[in-house]
Amino acid sequence: MSELHALFGGTFDPIHFGHLRPVEALAQQVGLKRITLLPNNVPPHRPQPEANAAQRVDMLRCATETLPLFEIDTRELQRETPSWTVATLETLRAERGQQQPLGFIIGQDSLLTLAKWHRWQDLLSLCHLLVCKRPGYATEMDSPEMQAWLDHHITQDVQQLHQRAAGCIWLAETPLYNISATEIRQRRHQNLACDDLLPAAVIAYIDRAGLYRD
Ligand code: ATP
Repeated sequence: MSELHALFGGTFDPIHFGHLRPVEALAQQVGLKRITLLPNNVPPHRPQPEANAAQRVDMLRCATETLPLFEIDTRELQRETPSWTVATLETLRAERGQQQPLGFIIGQDSLLTLAKWHRWQDLLSLCHLLVCKRPGYATEMDSPEMQAWLDHHITQDVQQLHQRAAGCIWLAETPLYNISATEIRQRRHQNLACDDLLPAAVIAYIDRAGLYRD
């Protein structure tokens, strides 16, 4: 049996402790040895990240160079098309085979908007969803249909995540970090310190690159 491998997608503009700490706790909880960070390609018709793709990857490298739990996969940045999670998962599934347990990590805010994701109904045929808590977001889904879907797929048996290739939702007991990349960008624009919000190596990179300044 292959071991459970998890992927964590995001814009990471920039990566911060609200990404890293909950996901590290999740890894402990479910026994993950490796997490692949998947920086998104933001399509041209959407608001663009302030940092460009190369800078966002550089910041991921700065944040994780001393953390062997993490690796970085830039496949979504190499496509011209939007970063549909379902399409990325299909390529990973094709590479790794049908038996490999795969988890896709999201925060609670992303779970709440899942019904807006492209082909969201197909996600659980490709992966498990591993959900981190995020303060300030409801714990109930906003429609009875979505709540019923969630309740149907939730598991509290961690072994299911390892024994099955896909199909379960795991609501992780992760620490709460009230941090967003938006807040960090705004604080930088206002010349406010961000010391407790993201790794020092990322702050040093942001300073060197002159990012998030007017
Ligand atoms: P922005 O403020 O620019 O929208 P963000 O801080 O929400 O960005 P993203 O890169 O959009 O970060 O998020 C990637 C993933 O990380 C999403 O699944 C999101 O739910 C999750 N996430 C982001 N911040 C937190 C947090 N503080 N706690 C838990 N999950 C988080």
